[in-house]
Amino acid sequence: MEPRIRELMDFLDGAHSVYHAVAGLAWELEAAGYQCLSESDSWSLRAGGKYYLTRGGSAVIAFRIPDTEPAGFMMSASHADRPSFKVKENAQLSGKYTRLAVEGYGGMIRHSWLDRPLSVAGRVLVQTDEGVQSRLVDIDRDLLLIPSVAIHMDRQVNEGKNWNLAVDLLPVLGGAEPGIQFSKLLTQAAGGEILGHDLYLYNRQKAAVWGIEEEFLSAPALDDLECAWCCCKGFLEAEESAAIPVLCVFDSEEVGSSSLQGAGSCLLESVLSRICKACDLDLDRMLSQSFMVSADNAHAIHPNHPEYADAANAPVMGGGPVIKFNANMRYTTDGATAAIWRKVCAMANVPVQTYCNRADMPGGSTLGNISLSHVSVPTVDLGLPQLAMHAAYETAGVQDALYFMDAMTAFYSCAMEIPADGVYVIR
Ligand code: ZN
Repeated sequence: MEPRIRELMDFLDGAHSVYHAVAGLAWELEAAGYQCLSESDSWSLRAGGKYYLTRGGSAVIAFRIPDTEPAGFMMSASHADRPSFKVKENAQLSGKYTRLAVEGYGGMIRHSWLDRPLSVAGRVLVQTDEGVQSRLVDIDRDLLLIPSVAIHMDRQVNEGKNWNLAVDLLPVLGGAEPGIQFSKLLTQAAGGEILGHDLYLYNRQKAAVWGIEEEFLSAPALDDLECAWCCCKGFLEAEESAAIPVLCVFDSEEVGSSSLQGAGSCLLESVLSRICKACDLDLDRMLSQSFMVSADNAHAIHPNHPEYADAANAPVMGGGPVIKFNANMRYTTDGATAAIWRKVCAMANVPVQTYCNRADMPGGSTLGNISLSHVSVPTVDLGLPQLAMHAAYETAGVQDALYFMDAMTAFYSCAMEIPADGVYVIR
């Protein structure tokens, strides 16, 4: 197997929650010599310096300062959260079996979560002498399962079932009176008294490469950890340019981005403004020479349902990263940003595919236009073509991840100049 795919799969296999995904990316940045900043410190940044910060443990921004006078920001934004089930307060439900009280997070394909081993991961807030401290928790074993009702008792199950989150989808944790309480299990894993938590169910199935030529990659949360990883790899491997490269991975995209760690927060705006202050740069002039890649996976044409795709803009897995277009700007791409991205891909020898919704189907949106409302720079919406978006186990093309790493390496090796409105110089 191509080592870069093995690395991606290892990342996916460890990223059991948004917090673990961000911790995995932070580990990569640390290993590459990036210095962790705190938002509460004053920042003194030096030419040649490499930095990152996290917020709430579920969003990360990294950047480096070039040796020469910086000209613009070359940025990417992706997200580390995924549709799942969040564990409620007072979660242990007793009865003939012990179940866990959960509620839906984001828009998942509900039936895909049934009849498979699940576990719990996320963060807990533990009491300390000084206050509270966030710790990662992962009950890293087969712990829970949401059982189907037998077909003999639910003859309509294959006729299009309405899965009720409060009735059909509560996972079983144990027998009637288990010897250990769920809260105790968490306390043991956390190593302290827990005062708060953000815990999610996750699918225990590991990433797999499959197909007659091993052309497909399946894993939980490919949307959007695949983009987050490829952007991070491109960011780390790029050559220096005159621009400041910025990597952003946000939380909360699946629920509208409006959290402290989401693309709808002031996080990116604040970081860019602080970079400019620390480096004595004019923020407005910097933004006028900047570019953003909003990277969130796209829909490949479905083998059994080609009718859902636009006839002329239906990407296939393995055909290259996808530019997403929407006339009503649910995607940020316009002619200019599509052209710039095509130019970057040509430099990297990476093929480009295009995606539009069928004109009679509204489709989804992503974090690009939310980020754009805070940091207004030309933005292209991209993604890797995949199937089964928001299922517990999603499928994409192996080659597309490699293409996207190459494209992002080329992108982050560039700087852009906009000498006049409508004129873009990429070097
Ligand atoms: Zn997404």
